[in-house]
Amino acid sequence: MTPDYGFLKELGIQGSNSGAFAGRWLTCTGPTLDSTNPATGERIARVEQASKAEYEACMQAASQAWLRWRLVPAPRRGEIVRRMGERMREKKDALGKLITLETGKLLQEGWGEVQEAIDIADFAVGQSRMLYGLSMHSERALHSMREQWHPLGVVGIVTAFNFPMAVWAWNSMLALVCGDACLWKPSESAPLCAIALTNVIRPVLEAEGLAGLCSLCIGGVDDVARPLIMDSRIPLVSFTGSTAVGRDVAARVAGRLGRSILELGGNNAVVVMPDADLEMVVRSTLFGAVGTAGQRCTTTRRLLVHERVAEQVLERLLRAYQRVKVGDPMEEGTLCGPLIKPQAVAAMLDTLERAKAQGGKVLCGGTKAQLKGRLERGNFVVPAIVRMGAQTECVREETFAPILYVLTFQNMDEALRLHNEVPQGLSSAIFTLSVRDAERFMSAAGSDCGIANANIGTSGAEIGGAFGGEKDTGGGRESGSDSWKAYMRRQTNTVNWGTELPLAQGIQFG
Ligand code: NAD
Repeated sequence: MTPDYGFLKELGIQGSNSGAFAGRWLTCTGPTLDSTNPATGERIARVEQASKAEYEACMQAASQAWLRWRLVPAPRRGEIVRRMGERMREKKDALGKLITLETGKLLQEGWGEVQEAIDIADFAVGQSRMLYGLSMHSERALHSMREQWHPLGVVGIVTAFNFPMAVWAWNSMLALVCGDACLWKPSESAPLCAIALTNVIRPVLEAEGLAGLCSLCIGGVDDVARPLIMDSRIPLVSFTGSTAVGRDVAARVAGRLGRSILELGGNNAVVVMPDADLEMVVRSTLFGAVGTAGQRCTTTRRLLVHERVAEQVLERLLRAYQRVKVGDPMEEGTLCGPLIKPQAVAAMLDTLERAKAQGGKVLCGGTKAQLKGRLERGNFVVPAIVRMGAQTECVREETFAPILYVLTFQNMDEALRLHNEVPQGLSSAIFTLSVRDAERFMSAAGSDCGIANANIGTSGAEIGGAFGGEKDTGGGRESGSDSWKAYMRRQTNTVNWGTELPLAQGIQFG
């Protein structure tokens, strides 16, 4: 265990940790997993993973807790979520540092992610008093009709490595106020984040005698992920991860007629019109393409520039890229931390080779960054800008690394065609001063993404809006707006308060 990180102790992380929480930490019988610091290659701590037996214990604990929780009044559930949010506030500093240590995100991004978890807790508290149904007018005399929303049961939450706390919070804070229990399977690349967060919120649930309500199960595909996905006791699986895995998950959950929320890969573009504020374009593209080392689902991967301003934009962007400091994500001034694992570095280099073979020209970066001292074994790369002649295979794919493809267009029709040509449909943006072009981009005939912005980049969504995307991004929605409805079941009630039994549609029977 790395000796000088006092915040690990504050979060209850030890040299060796149980990977299964079922109202209490279990003794695990699955294989051991090492959590590694991607900036140094050093082991941070060990995790004993769950086997099928511990999975079952976690599932039982969540199910038992749910039987009580579903009857707790929703505003009271909100009060308990409020206290969970308070605990995250108290531990924000330590939690943010752990995100940086385990995933390589910059400290600012780590703290920002915890803040996002706190924000969604606040949002969910308010939502707990607004789980509104409708009332309708019955066609029958002396009848009333309404619909109400009931909890679903245990929600399975499978998360990706790159938002190791916020995505759990998006799902669980809403699911809890909706009256559901949660069973979380986090990424094998960020298990300590999940253990720490569970330790942080645990006292609140223990005080209510409901410790199993947020169960955690860390383990492999066969021991944990697959059993969870195939478990007919889980009516809803919320899956965040790559499109390839999500496609398999979707088919399996649908096969047992379960529901799923799918938050999958993105291939997000910024469209730059000739009247755009180029300073804003450069700043937001830099954050969008290089932030989190290109490992956000909303990372800017394609820059579609009007040919009239393309050279100017490229020149400024190249200058900005030259100032990007690649290095220790814990250090102030670093703008690009490491990739999550050596395979991600290899995938980036491989994609760039294919881009070149497909006619792409690498304008900067695209190599391993060899750092010194403790960082020598880190997964560092230099962010790349690649100019492409036309949309080709590599541009259609999501490579989870800082590669920005630049393509040019002559008019808005061409920009929209290029924009919508990729299989994914998560986030998109246009930079223009023209209301007409901005509105066209966000119209039904414009961007086909779940998120379309004007004069704001593709990454960095607020929690108040519904988050998610179309096509290969999976169609799910989480976080704000009316996303809460996915975590509940709708029931229509008709009450006859008269003495006759009229049938609907005026049917006479007997
Ligand atoms: P991944 O698909 O490798 O893993 C995601 C999760 O699925 C992990 O918990 C993993 O252990 C689990 N998993 C792996 N194989 C599985 C299987 N066969 N069955 C069930 N579960 C399985 O993704 P990743 O590398 O952790 O994350 C990066 C990907 O996630 C990118 O594609 C990114 O765009 C996407 N992502 C999407 C969003 C979104 O909101 N749209 C947010 C974050 C990340």
